[in-house]
Amino acid sequence: MGKVMIEPEEAWARVMAAVSPLPPRRFSLDEAAGRVLAEDVRAETDYPPFAASTVDGWAVVAEDDSPRRRILDAEGRAGEMPSVAVIPGTAARVMTGAPLPPGADAVVMVEDSAVEGEFVRFTRPVRPGENVRPAGSDLAAGQVVLAEGTMLGPAEVGLLATVGRFEVWAYPSPRVAVLSTGDEVVEPWESPGPAQIRDSNRYALMAAVREAGGIPMSLGIVPDRPEVLREKVEAALAQADVLITSGGVSEGDRDHIGPLLAERGTVHFNRVRQKPGKPFTFATVRGKPCFALPGNPVSALVSFELYVRPALRRMAGHTRLRRPEATVRLRHPVRPDPVRTEFVRAVVEREGDEWWARTTGAQASSRLLSMRGANALLRVPPGPDALPEGTAVTAILIAWPEDR
Ligand code: AMP
Ligand code: MG
Repeated sequence: MGKVMIEPEEAWARVMAAVSPLPPRRFSLDEAAGRVLAEDVRAETDYPPFAASTVDGWAVVAEDDSPRRRILDAEGRAGEMPSVAVIPGTAARVMTGAPLPPGADAVVMVEDSAVEGEFVRFTRPVRPGENVRPAGSDLAAGQVVLAEGTMLGPAEVGLLATVGRFEVWAYPSPRVAVLSTGDEVVEPWESPGPAQIRDSNRYALMAAVREAGGIPMSLGIVPDRPEVLREKVEAALAQADVLITSGGVSEGDRDHIGPLLAERGTVHFNRVRQKPGKPFTFATVRGKPCFALPGNPVSALVSFELYVRPALRRMAGHTRLRRPEATVRLRHPVRPDPVRTEFVRAVVEREGDEWWARTTGAQASSRLLSMRGANALLRVPPGPDALPEGTAVTAILIAWPEDR
């Protein structure tokens, strides 16, 4: 495949066409959080299964006009079945969560009562149903409590437990092999020689994989030698669902990753009309997505954000794949690239009723500091003229301000 430049939207569409959700598996309740449910979960019975008091107080017949009521010799506690029936002229002590005794249809709070020997008097009238949680008031038997496709957060995990589902079908997390390429790249704990640099991409990308819900697998650094690269790529694809590489996708004679992926599988594109992240090869090998990201640290992370993260989410069963977007105004002028869409790193903040964006300074694709603290990528279309302060642009919100 020669080098063909496509627009960012087309790149997104080609990635999405090539990835699909992983086969669902059974997960236990304590592994369920953060996953997407792959089945409908129903309530097998009514919840709560019995009418219960919502307060500590007195179970009574609401429409009883006795001025005071005889205290029954029984105390209703949570977890115990009532041992007495309540009739007009009587009241039974009940605790929060205890089943309502037969005959009673309301509970008077202990704060609204005064005990007089064997009797209790109420300082307020009581309506039928007051302070009672009826059977089936939360969930009805047969009701779909959680539909397929639901993301399982804390409340959803609690609902699974409520209906007795200690195992559920859900989508697994994609296992993502991450490797760095380049003769100049060394480990962070090594002292780089005069022409060497430390590997920041693998660590940044593994962190991004984790944040996107994937399981990162470190495959180390590969020199720019086709035989070594081929071996590593095969090893990676044998263990992982997805391969991410960085570096080696430019025009140099040491850029071997594109030809290798073309030889092993299908290359879907290799250039995107965007900045940063123009050299970027996306391929599938035996159905597994392979993202060959550029070597420049910012390009690698921006491409991850725009294409890899949504792909990983799709594999994990998510249907909402994109970050939220908002219209924001530029705090200062921005000069667009003449021909490529630029994804400008920025900090978006609320000022009064409006959202304003400041860029993170020099936007060189090697300057990882331009990504530090950024909570948005501004999608700036190509054009000849600088955008003045106040111009409305679209911000892709990659983090909320509280996370900075
Ligand atoms: P390449 O895409 O291999 O031409 O690399 C582009 C630029 O990114 C070069 O300046 C590389 O030194 C740099 N680079 C490549 N890989 C890494 C890495 N793993 N960590 C940091 N910088 C890298
Ligand atoms: Mg290189």
